[in-house]
Amino acid sequence: MIGRYSRQTLFKGIGEEGQRKLGNSCVVIIGCGALGTVIATSLVRAGVGEVRIIDRDFIEYHNLQRQVLFDEDDIRNGLPKAIAAERHLKKVNSSVEVEGIVADVNYTNIERFIHDADVVLDGLDNFETRFLINDACLKHRIPWVYGGAISSSGMTMNIIPGETPCFRCLSSTAPHPGVALTCDTAGIIGPVPFIIGSLQAVEATKVLVGAEEINRNLIIFDVWKGTFHRLKVSPRHDCPSCRGKYEFLEGKFGVRTTSLCGQNAVQVLNPEVGELSFKELAARLKAVGVVSYNEFMLHFSIDSQEMVIFPDGRAIVKNTTDESLARGLYAKYIGT
Ligand SMILES: [Zn+2]
Repeated sequence: MIGRYSRQTLFKGIGEEGQRKLGNSCVVIIGCGALGTVIATSLVRAGVGEVRIIDRDFIEYHNLQRQVLFDEDDIRNGLPKAIAAERHLKKVNSSVEVEGIVADVNYTNIERFIHDADVVLDGLDNFETRFLINDACLKHRIPWVYGGAISSSGMTMNIIPGETPCFRCLSSTAPHPGVALTCDTAGIIGPVPFIIGSLQAVEATKVLVGAEEINRNLIIFDVWKGTFHRLKVSPRHDCPSCRGKYEFLEGKFGVRTTSLCGQNAVQVLNPEVGELSFKELAARLKAVGVVSYNEFMLHFSIDSQEMVIFPDGRAIVKNTTDESLARGLYAKYIGT
């Protein structure tokens, strides 16, 4: 199979030795939206031995603008993203062991998904799960590559346990829900995740082949303004994760969901949240759905989905008993 990769083994940074290392490696991609599809495409084509993709969502038409692995047939067939990705990628490179897993990654299952990974890649759209990846990867000493994309800008950073600052050094807490932009409220243009996902894939490749040129800075760009920056991140001496306190992995923080018995609704609770500003939240949500509020609650509906949000950040997602779906909607429209 080595001839298949001749154009990248000619490249000195990889070579035949590097190609063998790629072939013996396992990568885990958490989240298979825009970033995840770019990363997975790149690494499967490059001949990484085992690619595990975990995602909890189904494909919708508004994903096709930027989620490069999916097509209209996948939507007609009602496929979850992880399964559609696996099917497409197996056709691209049958020598790679591609595994799509439909799951909501949380503190109870993340270690099972990543324990044997050589590198973990972040294809997520929420901070909470990134803090969880950070804890799990520090604990298991696995390098991971952060990537974020929104509107016309993106950022990426490598977290190499014991060598670089971690994600919690970079951002000590998640942005306040209701303030954080999400792709579902601020929008995103396709080229941004293409660039970030490609940078993440190349950094993962460098980690896997043992290259010295691994990036140790935070890269931030805005494709609309045409700006590109590399920033040095300092380790935070009081960072709990770097000191071995894995609070997110212990389930100490983070969003909790409870199915409300007999009500066909799920409550989503974020213990980190203080007071929400309904005025700001309503201004953002009005762009995508129908919003009304008084001082006690904010009512938001989009298509067949309905949420009631309370000032303490608690939300009730109606017309479902699926806790994973409810968490997803919360992350999408309220943030974190
Ligand atoms: Zn840290």
